[in-house]
Amino acid sequence: MRASRYLIATVKETPADAVIVSHRLMLRAGMIRKLASGLYTWLPTGLRVLRKVERIVREEMDRAGAQEVFMPCVQPAELWQESGRYDDMGPLMLHLQDRHERDFVFGPTHEEVITDIARNELTSYKQLPVNFYQIQTKFRDEFRPRFGVMRAREFIMKDAYSFHLTADSLQEEYDNMYRTYCRIFDRLGLDYRPVLADSGAMGGAASHEFQVLADSGEDYIAFSDGSDFAANIEMAEAVMPAGERAAPSEELRLVDTPEAKTIAQLVEQFDLPIEKTIKTLVVEAEEGQTESGLVALLVRGDHELNEVKAEKLPQVKVPLTMASEARIRAVIGAGPGSLGPVKLPIPVIIDRAVSLMSDFGAGANEDDKHWFGINWGRDVELPEVADLRSVQAGDPSPDGQGTLQIKKGIEVGHVFQLGRKYAEALGARVLDENGREQAMTMGCYGIGVSRIVAAAIEQNHDDNGIIWPEAMAPFQVGIVPLNAHKSPEVMATAERLYSELTDLGYEVLLDDRDKKTSPGVKFADMELLGIPHRLVVSDRSLQNDQIEYKYRRAADREEWPLADTVARLG
Ligand code: ATP
Ligand code: MG
Ligand code: MG
Ligand code: MG
Repeated sequence: MRASRYLIATVKETPADAVIVSHRLMLRAGMIRKLASGLYTWLPTGLRVLRKVERIVREEMDRAGAQEVFMPCVQPAELWQESGRYDDMGPLMLHLQDRHERDFVFGPTHEEVITDIARNELTSYKQLPVNFYQIQTKFRDEFRPRFGVMRAREFIMKDAYSFHLTADSLQEEYDNMYRTYCRIFDRLGLDYRPVLADSGAMGGAASHEFQVLADSGEDYIAFSDGSDFAANIEMAEAVMPAGERAAPSEELRLVDTPEAKTIAQLVEQFDLPIEKTIKTLVVEAEEGQTESGLVALLVRGDHELNEVKAEKLPQVKVPLTMASEARIRAVIGAGPGSLGPVKLPIPVIIDRAVSLMSDFGAGANEDDKHWFGINWGRDVELPEVADLRSVQAGDPSPDGQGTLQIKKGIEVGHVFQLGRKYAEALGARVLDENGREQAMTMGCYGIGVSRIVAAAIEQNHDDNGIIWPEAMAPFQVGIVPLNAHKSPEVMATAERLYSELTDLGYEVLLDDRDKKTSPGVKFADMELLGIPHRLVVSDRSLQNDQIEYKYRRAADREEWPLADTVARLG
């Protein structure tokens, strides 16, 4: 690729909402551009990386025996009504209507569609087991889209679904996918951990998440220092013997900013107790409407709507900090002192919460506008999720070996044993050996293809920009001819290297931009783009039949004999 004919959309400044390093670097390196909240265009450099990830995922899924399919992203609403998930999805799911006013949704996931395929195409146990996968666009109307493509609304997922007659067969494929995921993340050069995950929401038996370790992660992982135990903290909590659980610590800190004053005024105005308070909020729902996760969403703001546990509870009790109490009051419009049991249907509360939240940042926080202007996290420093948990660092590991450490992770993959839930709901049955009809049992396996690009940057960068793991780099080699406009020999050498390396199958970026682009800018762009191998061709080096080489991860430059350059790169 010639830089003069290529969109090098590098920029220096990034908008204030780009708070994590991968988001900033993806913008600065000209990989992505925001179209609207949670919607991103992949520019040429970004797309090159995305395609690399896709290719590795595809190669390993094929190698594991899965079959690629491609399903529509627009799905008939009836299918979701049939599975019983239409209402459960809530505002997470984008709804559409066609010209005949038929209802459709933009798929947040594809269990329904694939189970529809399975019920039509699979009739006998002899066709099992099978595993179908696709790499495709999903839309989830995330409560808080943020961090660029890390938590987008439209994103690329690899999703796979396997069908089986028996639980043993499902377990075998689950193990196969687990190993396949390890191969994928190894090839991508990520520092990751498979961890036990909560499978409650889907009603399945077993579940693991693949977490990339990074401080910007939104998940908390509990690791034992004395065994292989590693679990999403929610799961660690579930398996922790009751006697060993610590009381969650809760504390509200007012941030010392001008905005915080309005919070202080708010506290005064509504007579909220300033000291640490833990109350219990009891939310009673109308029959079948309560979902504990929704309440967690309200009081913590860090929970995503789609993580809601599908437990149907008549009553939910949540511990309440002052911050969460203020939030709840704001949401339900309760005045001081009136916060007893709240009898509002949960969907109403959620609706109010969502509209309240969407008002955030809209120039609020003026006097008397506090209710609609509180920015949790900006004005009020909320306790870390880990602090709210009953499992804490230093606790004994639930398996009795060692003590727990807590780290943050980015969920890049998730494998799940779903069981017969969808097959039963949609009537996906096959004939078994005895000629009897049986609902199939299913597994599902997701990978956040676009999220991986951001996660990799979180782990691989320095002050100058991205440092791509070799397998993901948009180009492997960058060539910078210095002052080529003055030296035909420099340009000729650069061109020769460019075509030799290209012929050998390298993806090479030749920075042939004219003298309006200074050498300094060219070097900075190469570093920012994270190209692993950089060659600089200059008159000075050529005088000694040399070329300057720099490995992106290395501190120092090297002088290589020109004649050996191609061989040395290989
Ligand atoms: P999260 O906990 O981050 O919301 P999830 O558990 O809802 O993710 P899954 O339903 O397990 O996600 O989907 C499979 C994978 O898709 C996830 O492991 C993640 O890598 C990716 N993914 C999910 N939501 C998003 C999103 N909003 N933007 C980018 N990738 C996503
Ligand atoms: Mg989610
Ligand atoms: Mg998750
Ligand atoms: Mg998940």
